[in-house]
Amino acid sequence: MGRKLQGRLIIATHNAGKLWEMQRLLAPHGVDAISAGELGLPEPPETGTTFIANARLKAHAAMTATGLPAFADDSGMCVDALDGAPGVYSADWAGNPRDFGAAMDRVERELLAMGMLGSRASFNSTLIIAWPDGHEAIFEGSVAGALVFPRRGTQGFGYDPIFLPDGESRTFGEMMAEEKNAVPDDDRLPISHRARAFVKLRAACL
Ligand code: IMP
Repeated sequence: MGRKLQGRLIIATHNAGKLWEMQRLLAPHGVDAISAGELGLPEPPETGTTFIANARLKAHAAMTATGLPAFADDSGMCVDALDGAPGVYSADWAGNPRDFGAAMDRVERELLAMGMLGSRASFNSTLIIAWPDGHEAIFEGSVAGALVFPRRGTQGFGYDPIFLPDGESRTFGEMMAEEKNAVPDDDRLPISHRARAFVKLRAACL
């Protein structure tokens, strides 16, 4: 049995796509959530080399700045033929300012050069809640699938248009966010990595 979330929660992200998805996941549970971006908190540099380390950095920065429990996600796409890249560097591959078209082109270029365009990949999400008294809870979710080129669909964000989750006929980019992140009431597994991690968080903390 995990620690229950009560009162105000800081969503420790400056990523609009993730914020939207995290707010939608939390909304049915009446959590009073406000984002680090809305509060004008600085974005900590993601210097970790694992999803857990980076989620922890973000959650702890927001918790320390506000004195409130903070919820962070670190996520990314790991391509099998690229030894797990871009992985924790998924956002970095989009450069500054972010250009995920260029990041998806780089994935395609590197796979093409290796003759591995049909590589498998996975999306991974690590959710961490950090409480001011030092308590921490970690939840992980992942979804495996195939990469498809050219890109398919205009929904979602990041690498969504090139990822076809196993068991589905449409890429994340062709799914409405409600469908990608749906959290079934029964034992069925949600489609997205973030929703898969979230069902674990829901069971423990909501
Ligand atoms: P970070 O967790 O802030 O380091 O960023 C992770 C990056 O991974 C995002 O900027 C996206 O590019 C990518 N990513 C994470 N989750 C998703 C997703 O659900 N769809 C598409 N891209 C994602």
